[in-house]
Amino acid sequence: MTRGLLAPPPLTRLQRLVLRVRGRVKVGEYTRPGWKGYLPLYAARCGEHGLFLDTPHGWRGELECPRCFEDRLLAEAIAELVGAGG
Ligand SMILES: [Zn+2]
Repeated sequence: MTRGLLAPPPLTRLQRLVLRVRGRVKVGEYTRPGWKGYLPLYAARCGEHGLFLDTPHGWRGELECPRCFEDRLLAEAIAELVGAGG
């Protein structure tokens, strides 16, 4: 799980510009013990929660706000409980 890694670092003026134009900006690389490689670490902005850090997910390389991700998991868990009748 690579969500909600760190608080986003202060962005430079160039990084803020790239973020505005592309919707994401690379701020570093991420690795874990036992990994051979690195994943690019991006800062992106969530309309609801503000700036967040994430690594790309899936073949489309999408970024997801960790707080939205948690909300979605919770909503899915609740839907499952309700669907199961309690
Ligand atoms: Zn969010």
